[in-house]
Amino acid sequence: MPPVIHWFRRDLRLTDNTALAAAVATGSPVVPVYIVSKWKGHHRWTGPNRQAFLCGCLESLARNLEAVGGRLIIRQGDAVEQLEKLAAETGASAVYFNRDPDPYGHQTEKRLAATARFDVRGFQDVCIHERDEVLNGSGLPFRVFTPYSKAWLKAPKPPTSQTVRRITVPNGIASDPVPTPATWGLGHPAPGILPPGEKAARDRMKTFLTRGLAFYGSGRDLPGRTFTSRISQDLRFGLISPRELYNRCLARQEELPPDGRRSAGKYIAELIWREFYMQILWHFPDVLEQEFNPKFRGLGWGWDEMAFERWCTGETGFPIVDAAMRELRETGFMHNRARMITAMFLTKDLLLDWRMGEQFFMQHLVDGEIASNNGGWQWSAGTGADAAPYFRIQNPWTQTKRYDPDGTYIKMWIPELRDVDPVRFQDPPSPGLSLAKGYPPPMLDHAAARDRALEFFAASS
Ligand code: FAD
Repeated sequence: MPPVIHWFRRDLRLTDNTALAAAVATGSPVVPVYIVSKWKGHHRWTGPNRQAFLCGCLESLARNLEAVGGRLIIRQGDAVEQLEKLAAETGASAVYFNRDPDPYGHQTEKRLAATARFDVRGFQDVCIHERDEVLNGSGLPFRVFTPYSKAWLKAPKPPTSQTVRRITVPNGIASDPVPTPATWGLGHPAPGILPPGEKAARDRMKTFLTRGLAFYGSGRDLPGRTFTSRISQDLRFGLISPRELYNRCLARQEELPPDGRRSAGKYIAELIWREFYMQILWHFPDVLEQEFNPKFRGLGWGWDEMAFERWCTGETGFPIVDAAMRELRETGFMHNRARMITAMFLTKDLLLDWRMGEQFFMQHLVDGEIASNNGGWQWSAGTGADAAPYFRIQNPWTQTKRYDPDGTYIKMWIPELRDVDPVRFQDPPSPGLSLAKGYPPPMLDHAAARDRALEFFAASS
C-alpha cells in the first residue's frame, strides 16, 4: 500500500491528534514529517523563545514516535515544495494534516490543494469549534463574546481520536536533523522557559486540573501567584488536545463543590476566548493590519522609539509594568492581568501604536499566537472585537493595590525594589523621585496621560 504523509504543524502530539489518528487508521504506512521554515536571522513575529520551545517539542515528538515504532522526518524549506518532494520520493498517495486557523497557514493549505498530485486531507483539530461552526441566528460570525460563548457551549462537541500506539514508517527516508535556534540564526532563549514536549504539557494539565481548577476563579487575576494553568504554549503547539482538556475540565467540574464548579466554568470561558479570537481572525483577517472597529481606524498613534524602549526593557518607573516586562524577557511568559496592564500602558499612557506592542509580544512570548495576541492587544487598545471601551483606562497604581497588594510579583522581577515597603507601589512617588536607588522615577504622570488619552480617542468616537 502506498504510504500516507502526516504533516505535523501545530499538533506536536500522539494523543487525540485527529489527522494523525486518521492517517494511522488507513492501515497504510505513515510518513510523519515536520517542515522547518527557512527564514534566517530576523522575523517580525518570532524570536528565540518560541523557536527554542518548538525545537524541544520536536525532539520530544521524535522520541515519542520512536517509542511507538516510528520516526520523525524533518525537512526544511517551503512546505508545499517539500511535501511534493517527499510524496514523489515515497510514492505517498495522500497528505493528512490538521488545519491551521491563521491566514498564512491557510494560504499554504490552499497552495498545496491547488498543486498536489495526491489526495490532500485537512482535519479540524486546533480548536473545538472552528470557522463557521458557531454563527449567529443570521448565519454571520459573532462579534461579541457572551453570545458567542453561549452558542459555543450549546454546539455538539467533536469526538476525541485514538491515541497512536503503533506506527509503521517506511525505511530509508532522508531527514534533516531536529532544528535548534541556530538553524534560524537565533541566539539563546530566555532562561525561564517551561519544559517542552507532550509529557511535560500533560503533567501541567493534570496538575492544574487536580490542584488548580477549583481555585482558578478567585486566583486567576493575581500575577504573583500560580493560580493559572500555564498551558497556553501547550495549546499553541498542540501538545495537548483542546477536546481532551475540555472533557477533563467537565469531568473535574462534576467532582467539585459549587465554588469550584463556578471556577471551572470561568476556566472554560477562557478556553472559549481562545476560539472566539480564532474565529475573529478567520472571518476578519484584516485585524492583523488594522483596527477591528472601523471607528478607530486612522488614529494618529505615536511612534516614540525612546518611550517604547523604556517599556520593552521594563524601565518605565511604574513597578507593575516593569515587573511584567521583565517577567516576559526572563521567561517568555507574562501573566494575563499583567499583559492587560502593560498593553493599556503602551496604548493609553504612552499612546503608542498597539502594533508595536503586538510585535514585541510575538517576538518574546513562548505562547505567542497570532489570533489571541492580536485579540488581546486590540482589546486593550479599545479597538477590537468586544474590546474594553476606550475610556476604560487602567491605573497602574490602583491595579497594583488590587492585584499585587503585598508586592510579591513586583519584588519577584525587580530586585532594585526588594527592600521597599509594598504600600509604596500603590501610589506614585513625589514628582521626580524614584522608589529606590537604581530604579527610575515614573516616566509620566498617569492622571495627565489619562486625560490625553481620553481626548485622543474621543476625537475618533
Ligand atoms: P489560563 O488563565 O490558565 O487560561 C487557560 C487557557 O485559556 C490559556 O492557556 C489560553 O489558551 C486561554 N486563554 C486565557 N485567557 C485568554 C484570553 N484573554 N484570550 C485568549 N485565550 C485565552 N494568549 C495566548 O495563548 N497567546 C498570545 O499570544 C496571547 N497574547 C496576549 C496578549 C495580550 C495583550 C493579552 C491581554 C492577552 C494575551 N493572551 C494570549 C491571552 C492570555 O493572556 C494567555 O492565554 C494566558 O495568560 C496564558 O496563561 P495560562 O495558560 O496560565 O492561562
